[in-house]
Amino acid sequence: MSDTSLIRARLLARRAELLGRSAAVTADLHHEHEPLVADFADQATQRENEEVLRGIEQSTRGLLRQVNVALERVDRGEYFRCSRCGCDIEAERLQAIPEADQCARCAAHRQLA
Ligand SMILES: [Zn+2]
Repeated sequence: MSDTSLIRARLLARRAELLGRSAAVTADLHHEHEPLVADFADQATQRENEEVLRGIEQSTRGLLRQVNVALERVDRGEYFRCSRCGCDIEAERLQAIPEADQCARCAAHRQLA
């Protein structure tokens, strides 16, 4: 049926991309801590930047977890099955979001909940 090695390659590429982003953000955060700016306005900007970076870091970690789960799902042969209702996840959806673990209907439902 579907070529799982291709899916695996896509997920691994996605994971590499996310790990790269995570490392860059972590490096930025580390850098932000260093010379503390004397100016109060600059300090406020620094804190805001830090918050934005932490937000990116968190969402990147979340995505990484999803990609790892997706890779496990490939191994178990469950990649195409919706983790919520058990139906097949739409191919276009997996094309757009390779780490998706639910069909479009369930995902929409989850977002509303
Ligand atoms: Zn579903």
